[in-house]
Amino acid sequence: MTSILVVEDDTAIRSALSRGLTERGHAVTVASAGLTGLELVVNARPDLVLLDLGLPDIDGLQVIAMIRAVGEIPIIVITAQDDDTMLVQALDAGADDYVIKPFSLAQIDARMRAVLRRGGSTGGEEEPVVVGELVVDPRSRTATLAGDRLELSRKEFDLLLVLASRPGQVVSRRDLLAEVWQQGYGGGDRTVDVHLSWLRRKLGETAAEPRYLHTVRGVGVRMVDPTSPGDG
Ligand code: CA
Repeated sequence: MTSILVVEDDTAIRSALSRGLTERGHAVTVASAGLTGLELVVNARPDLVLLDLGLPDIDGLQVIAMIRAVGEIPIIVITAQDDDTMLVQALDAGADDYVIKPFSLAQIDARMRAVLRRGGSTGGEEEPVVVGELVVDPRSRTATLAGDRLELSRKEFDLLLVLASRPGQVVSRRDLLAEVWQQGYGGGDRTVDVHLSWLRRKLGETAAEPRYLHTVRGVGVRMVDPTSPGDG
């Protein structure tokens, strides 16, 4: 049984979700505002949060940031419109996926299963990935460069792991969007580029003088072992 917290101020949607998800065998807790939702995240420790972005008290993006500050609980955002900018911001803030109103219960259930499956598969027996002096450990979700711990955001870590797992291969922006953000949404190239530039800064390199992260113009990005002669 999955415990789900529904944070939604629209009474009709909230009750429909609560009833429908309960019928599907989930344990459902509800909140009608951001603050009560946050309290329940901390106190009830749900397996997953369904979060409406348009809440009466706090901005949904802030709610995502606050949930992320306390843990890795999967968040699926519910949004009223297909607003790319808003969705990019929500995904960047740490949301795992989204549904757009009106949505069906089957659709939201499928998204929840996918998100929980992904969450469950990250704690497995995956071995650390080593490229040159870079070590990326999926189990502890930590990365070090020449022994120094890198302070990475959740998405930066995911991005680094995908690239480091395929050294020497060019990975397209579309693949990165699909694997790191689990989406192919409009305006996504910029999201990838921005995260890559943050990652580069943390690796102590620039796009003009790359060591590990090499941009292949018009194609994507390639992780290179700069300590291996002939591989640059
Ligand atoms: Ca709302």
